[in-house]
Amino acid sequence: MNSQIIDALPQALLSELGEDVLQSLCTDVDAFGKFSEQWAILTKNALVMLDADGREQHRIALSVIISADAQMYIGAGRLSVKTTDGPVVLAHYSPRLVQKVSAFKNAINAVAKGEQLPHLSEKDLPRTCPTCGRPLDVGTNVCPLCVDKGKVVVRLIRYAKPFRNLMILSILLLLAVTGISLVPPYLTKVIVDKVITPHNFGSMLLILVLSLLLANLLQAVLQAVRGYLGVWLGSRMMGNIRRDIYDALMKLSLSYFDKRQTSQFIGRVNNDAQQMQQFLTDGLIMMTSQVTSLVAIIVMMLRLNWFLAVLAFITTPLILITSISLWPFVRLRWYRLWRTRVRLNVLVGDSLNGIRVVKAFGQEQMEEDRYQEANLRMVDLSTRMDGLWQGVFPLFNFISSFGTVLVWFFGGREVLHGSITLGTLMAFITYLNMFFGPLQWFSQLINWVTNALASAERVFEIIDTIPDVREAADAVPMPLIEGRVEIEGLSFGYERHHPVLKNINLQVEPGEMIGLVGHSGAGKSTFINLLCRFYDPNEGSILLDGTDLRDIRQEDLHSQIGVVLQETFLFDGTVKENIAYAKPDASQYEIMRAAKIANAHSFIMRLTDGYDTRVGERGHRLSGGEKQRIAIARAVLHDPRILILDEATASLDTETERQIQEALARLVKGRTTFAIAHRLSTLRNANRLVVFERGEIVEAGTHEELLSTEGVYYGLVKAQTELSQIRGVGE
Ligand code: ADP
Repeated sequence: MNSQIIDALPQALLSELGEDVLQSLCTDVDAFGKFSEQWAILTKNALVMLDADGREQHRIALSVIISADAQMYIGAGRLSVKTTDGPVVLAHYSPRLVQKVSAFKNAINAVAKGEQLPHLSEKDLPRTCPTCGRPLDVGTNVCPLCVDKGKVVVRLIRYAKPFRNLMILSILLLLAVTGISLVPPYLTKVIVDKVITPHNFGSMLLILVLSLLLANLLQAVLQAVRGYLGVWLGSRMMGNIRRDIYDALMKLSLSYFDKRQTSQFIGRVNNDAQQMQQFLTDGLIMMTSQVTSLVAIIVMMLRLNWFLAVLAFITTPLILITSISLWPFVRLRWYRLWRTRVRLNVLVGDSLNGIRVVKAFGQEQMEEDRYQEANLRMVDLSTRMDGLWQGVFPLFNFISSFGTVLVWFFGGREVLHGSITLGTLMAFITYLNMFFGPLQWFSQLINWVTNALASAERVFEIIDTIPDVREAADAVPMPLIEGRVEIEGLSFGYERHHPVLKNINLQVEPGEMIGLVGHSGAGKSTFINLLCRFYDPNEGSILLDGTDLRDIRQEDLHSQIGVVLQETFLFDGTVKENIAYAKPDASQYEIMRAAKIANAHSFIMRLTDGYDTRVGERGHRLSGGEKQRIAIARAVLHDPRILILDEATASLDTETERQIQEALARLVKGRTTFAIAHRLSTLRNANRLVVFERGEIVEAGTHEELLSTEGVYYGLVKAQTELSQIRGVGE
């Protein structure tokens, strides 16, 4: 693929257009969220929108385009352009096209400004499987159709290793069950041939019937033991797999999650682990037993009568051929089903995460429709997939009944001619029926093995991802730091080619309080993210007491940096547990002391269960001001040397505001503090203010110094003062 073209136009459209095409993009959903293809084409003179059949829907001359914008909403995005005549919505797209649309938007913006088309590298475009060319799903490099099965199996089997002895026991039990299951048909033969004869008085009958009962009982007991063992093994292996996935997720850097929808991981932790476990317990063990049972049955049948055995197996190749030829259909359907399932999970996750937005904009119906569409697709696909088996099984049964009919016919004739006994025929027919069990099991084998291996590969992918931010091999232990921060030539971008912070230099003495101010989007939070080492700088460095953050042991770093964030996240648990989050072994006394310093004690005491009151998921039962004070108490207890404050934007009533300010003033004392304040008045205590503008530090100094220079800070203060006057809140 030419790296300059996002989606190459089909030749027919290209010739019809007859213009110099600079860039083209194929979008996938319409304005109502339904799947439908549309082409957006950027030519030297215009932006042209075509429907899938090449009919022109829109044409906007480049000369009227001011800028292009791509916005992601819940579950779908919108590409639009601002023109001199107003905004125009060009197309909608699903999340998987985010990168492509963003590249297309950049192309429009560049061309509209008369610049060169931006160069596109492979990294800018969504990835496809290098083997089969199908698009790879968001968040994974695994193409379920092309995984290296052998490698995955070997690695998967490692999970069974700690349970080797029990696995072997399980296999032995199954073999015993299989062995015992071969006995009853033989006993039947003896009963029919030797006992139920005209001149026999049946003295043996009781013994044989009792043996039959005993064989069945033994089989049932062994099966129950084996079943329990299987469940025991399965739960433990699955527990280990889930633990590994979760540990791996926790270790990954924030940048990993920035690019992915987090909802998909819920499915991975649970479903994929289950698939892997099934492979290990049912798969491996059943495989051994099914193979032995198949071989044993064949041997028994051949021993009873080789001619009938050959007749019975005549149809087997037909069954095998049918399943192999069905395989490509099954594979594709199964793949589609899997993708739809992921999409369903993501849809639920996204809309629940954004439920406030959904409700606030009254978009419940739209979300329901979008979900319903994916849901119906899932219904359709699973009906077709499962329906396929429902059709195939009766077919297999029919084919196998052919063998049975042949055996009845020729076997029956032999019984009539007296060349075999009736008992032999009956035993033979019973074995024959047993033979089809494992056979059907094998015909479905490829299906679920592929399933399980793809799951395993996706899980290993997470486990193998090396976090961007990782501990240096020779990381320096720094259990006690003073709190001097030196930032030298720091540059950083979430996307490398799009810097968000540019050449930042700053020296901060221990115990100093730095206020970070600037317009929204200026890079303040990004700066904080780097200080916490959520990301590593692209250029330059951050030194803490003279040591680069990247060289400090992460544990030491995080134990000495405390954050009070704008949106306090409270975990599902009690108030006490939430305060003691960073120090779970804190005593009740320490927790209360922290709460008192944070001015939180009195409101906590008013809660129904005091410190033991449960706060719901995300702490819904507490007000914004209360949550903030819990966060302050958390930080007090954590007692970090470096403190990061991201002040809440929401206005609080004067009394709460006063209490929080008071608590913060106590908290920051003696600690190096970086505070982002949205209300500038709250930065009164700061030693210095640093003003960010488009990723650069443009001013630094005290409140008075900055006011006197009448620069960016002056503008911000003025705007806020005017705003508060309009609101009549007067600061
Ligand atoms: P501020 O805190 O000053 O409002 P931010 O640091 O949040 O600014 O954002 C600076 C720029 O970085 C913005 O253009 C924003 O869109 C971008 N940005 C922030 N977070 C991310 C992210 N996780 N991935 C990509 N871009 C981001």
